[in-house]
Amino acid sequence: MALPVVAIVGRANVGKSTLFNRIVGERISIVEDIPGVTRDRLYAQADWNGQNFLLIDTGGIELADADEVANLIRVQAELAIDEAQVIIFLVDGRSGLTSSDHEVARMLRKSGKPVVLGVNKIDHPNHLAAVYDFYELGFDEPIGISSEHGHGTGDLLDAVVRQLPRTDEDTYDEDVIKIALIGRPNVGKSSLVNALLGNQRVMVSPVAGTTRDAVDSPLEMDGQRFVLIDTAGIRRRGKVYERIEKYSVLRALRAIERADVVFVVLDGESGIAEQDKKIAGYAVEAGRAVGIVVNKWDAVEKDDKTSQRFIEEIHEQFPFMRWAPIQFVSAITGQRVHKILPLAMEVANNHAMRISTSTLNTVIEEATTSVTPPSDKGVRLRIYYATQVGTKPPVFVLFVNRSELMHFSYQRYIENQLRKSFELTGTPIRIVARNRS
Ligand code: GDP
Ligand code: GDP
Repeated sequence: MALPVVAIVGRANVGKSTLFNRIVGERISIVEDIPGVTRDRLYAQADWNGQNFLLIDTGGIELADADEVANLIRVQAELAIDEAQVIIFLVDGRSGLTSSDHEVARMLRKSGKPVVLGVNKIDHPNHLAAVYDFYELGFDEPIGISSEHGHGTGDLLDAVVRQLPRTDEDTYDEDVIKIALIGRPNVGKSSLVNALLGNQRVMVSPVAGTTRDAVDSPLEMDGQRFVLIDTAGIRRRGKVYERIEKYSVLRALRAIERADVVFVVLDGESGIAEQDKKIAGYAVEAGRAVGIVVNKWDAVEKDDKTSQRFIEEIHEQFPFMRWAPIQFVSAITGQRVHKILPLAMEVANNHAMRISTSTLNTVIEEATTSVTPPSDKGVRLRIYYATQVGTKPPVFVLFVNRSELMHFSYQRYIENQLRKSFELTGTPIRIVARNRS
């Protein structure tokens, strides 16, 4: 299910990041463990009274171009209007109303989005009178808060949560494969969406679920239904904030969250960038089925070893997803674009794989016979039996004598044996060693 988004806007120094930190607390990171995936302060998951949401601090946006910096507040407000279900408009109760508060207020009112007006730096009840000045901005009751001390922030969050959509917006049928195309700006995502939708064998599908998100594109090929997630976001062009790296990571994260299958789109012409690894890392971390699409293959000067070299490069740069299939395509010429949906079917299938306990144990037994499990101080790891406890992605529990004896390298060996025995291309798998009680 998609997490609703709450964005904080307001001019510099009103206390946006102080409020962000207070709401998010220690729970800054929503992903971890994949090397190269760093913590990003522009957004974080938060909850209030059991309602989860993604909080964006639009003050975390940085623009390189001086002309644009002058417009920073507009850019921030635009991002909030486009992305958020509820906007927290933060103003400074100490410095009073300014012309840029009025400007932002105009933009927000025009958007029709729910706005909760927070008047910050009301550190003491004596300061509350200052709050009334802000009625002038034309929103519902301004709420006086002190982000630094935490006064009033609960009331503010109550007001936010009241406005959040309660409904589960992603109720597509079970058999619909949800696909996200992710990648840094300019790799060709939007061109690929167009190429996919323009394919003659592809039909725009009737409504795929009970409620359908207007930003997604449903389609159908050979009787299988798919949804391309967030195609509106992919195709919308030219907003200043879309070029900001943190923003494209955010966009990718939200799409990953809703997808079954994630295609990491790389630019064959310009090659692999640091940001590609980060984005791919999120998809793996989230446990999605993953494929790699190398686009712009038409623009690459090739000999008979070019694609092999690119594959080796990918394996080197993305060691945590050697199992992901790789497809070389061109959105412009259409070359091999028709292979993308069948590939989605294949990896979605593998992602949902169920392996019977007896078959699984035969493979594990053979594996432990060929390569003896590790031992420490005279005690050897014993795997008594294995069972699959989850799908999407497949999760296997190995019941053992001493789980601490399961070394990373032996676990990887087991994973490789499972991959050799079963068709697990395109899906991460998880292996957990647990002591038999
Ligand atoms: P941002 O630029 O909007 O993100 O603002 P910051 O969160 O960086 O805060 C700007 C300044 O205001 C900092 O010096 C904060 O310590 C201060 N500040 C933030 N919230 C409060 C508050 O509730 N009361 C007071 N007195 N100062 C605050
Ligand atoms: P997005 O930002 O990832 O959505 O990328 P776009 O679809 O907007 O494409 C960025 C640029 O790359 C545009 O100028 C496209 O024309 C170009 N482009 C996209 N796909 C291909 C391709 O397959 N081959 C070539 N040569 N150019 C492409």
